[in-house]
Amino acid sequence: MASRLVVRFDDIAPNMAWPTFERVIEICERYGVYPLLGVIPDNRDPELLAYPRREDFWSVVRDLQGRGWGVAQHGFQHVIRSRMGGLFGVNGFRSEFAGVPISEQRECVSVGAAVLRSAGLHIEAFMAPWHSFDLATVAALKEADIFAVTDGYSSFPVEYGGVLLVPQMTERVLPVPWGVQTVCYHWNAATEGSLRDFERFCAKNQARLVPFRDVLGGGLGAALGTVDRCAGRAALAALRARRRFFQLYDK
Ligand SMILES: [Zn+2]
Repeated sequence: MASRLVVRFDDIAPNMAWPTFERVIEICERYGVYPLLGVIPDNRDPELLAYPRREDFWSVVRDLQGRGWGVAQHGFQHVIRSRMGGLFGVNGFRSEFAGVPISEQRECVSVGAAVLRSAGLHIEAFMAPWHSFDLATVAALKEADIFAVTDGYSSFPVEYGGVLLVPQMTERVLPVPWGVQTVCYHWNAATEGSLRDFERFCAKNQARLVPFRDVLGGGLGAALGTVDRCAGRAALAALRARRRFFQLYDK
C-alpha cells in the first residue's frame, strides 16, 4: 500500500520560463500525469515578471485544463501584503493574505477568481502564495465558491472551517503508506537535473499519481466512512449479542 500523490506546479503566469515548462508538459503527457496548476490571476511579482511573456497564456491553460489538468487560483497578484505566516507559519516573512484586513482579502480573492473564470477556467482549489493564509482567507474563499485548498499538515484531506485542506507537507515524498501527499514544483528555477529528476519521479510513481480532483472525495471522508461503517457493524453485532444474552438469561 502506498499514499496517493498529487503534483502541483506553482507560479503559473504569462511570464514564465516557457522552454522549461514546455518540456515539463511533454513529460507529463508521456507518463499520464495531470498536475494542479497554480495560476496567478494578475501577476505583479517583479521576480516572476522578469521571465518572457506569452500572449496566448490563457488559451494554453484552458487547453491543459481541457486535457484533464487541474487549475488552482494562486493568490491574486503574488505580491507581499503582510509579514505573517498564517495558519501554517511556513514562511513567517511573506504573505499576500495572512493578517490582511478581510475586506482586502475578499477583494483579492473575488477579483482573482473573476479573472480566471472569465478566461474560461474552472477553479478547483486555492493555492496561497508562500503557503500563507488565515481564517479570513477561508471565509473569502467560501464567498467566492472555492472550497478546496492545496495546503495542510495531515495524512488525508481534512475539512477546516468549511473548506477541504488537501495536505501539502514537504517538497519530497514521505515514506507514508497511506493517505494523500502533494509534491510541489517551481519550474522557473529548474535545471536540466531537475527535469531529469522529475521524469524519473513520474516513471517511478506512475501508478500512484492522481489528479487533484480525485482526492477530494476519497480522503478522510472516505476513511471515516469506512470507520463509521465498521463501528456501526460492531455496534449492531454487540446489540444482537446483548439481546441474545438477555433472551437466554430470561429463560
Ligand atoms: Zn508562488
